[in-house]
Amino acid sequence: MNIKGVQTNTGKTHFKKGCISLMLGKHHTKETKEKIRLKNLGKPAWNKGKRGLYKPSEEIKKRISLKLIGKKVSKETREKISLANKGRTSQNKGISMTEEQKKKIKKALIDRWNKIGRKIKNKNRHHALGYETWRNAVFSRDNWTCIWCKKRGGRLQAHHIKSWVNYPELRYILDNGVILCIKCHKNATIEQRKQEKLLFDK
Ligand SMILES: [Zn+2]
Repeated sequence: MNIKGVQTNTGKTHFKKGCISLMLGKHHTKETKEKIRLKNLGKPAWNKGKRGLYKPSEEIKKRISLKLIGKKVSKETREKISLANKGRTSQNKGISMTEEQKKKIKKALIDRWNKIGRKIKNKNRHHALGYETWRNAVFSRDNWTCIWCKKRGGRLQAHHIKSWVNYPELRYILDNGVILCIKCHKNATIEQRKQEKLLFDK
């Protein structure tokens, strides 16, 4: 079959830009399905033995993680994942970590703690005063009003325009703070994480 603009099955590719598949919107009949099944019988599946070999490129990983920011996995999906993983042995089962690996993980954890500023441990006077002063200054400058939805009072939070994690030098700068209500703060944080992820993830 050779109709212009219509892609026929050459066996090489099923999809070609600008071409319409003959199967578009159609279903195979039972008969055809049986034929295909018989033809493929005994042939290994295209993905046989390939599990776990697919490695998305950095670009794709970035795109996926950007899309997932702020999204919650539904309970249903989580259940599905847990069901799918049941009975599966983990890749590293029975293999204990080498000393080097342990050291690496420890270092990564410490680095991360240093980056976010040990929020809990650092509740010493100096830190607490710095934050409290900054927060109070932001609240009084913005008059206890969410700058986005203009709601006054209620549960308001001081938001860092440039994040606490990525801009430690701006943590206590008045101009880097705004007042947002909980709802707007959530949206602002999602937006901020998206933007800063592009800048800081290398
Ligand atoms: Zn608001």
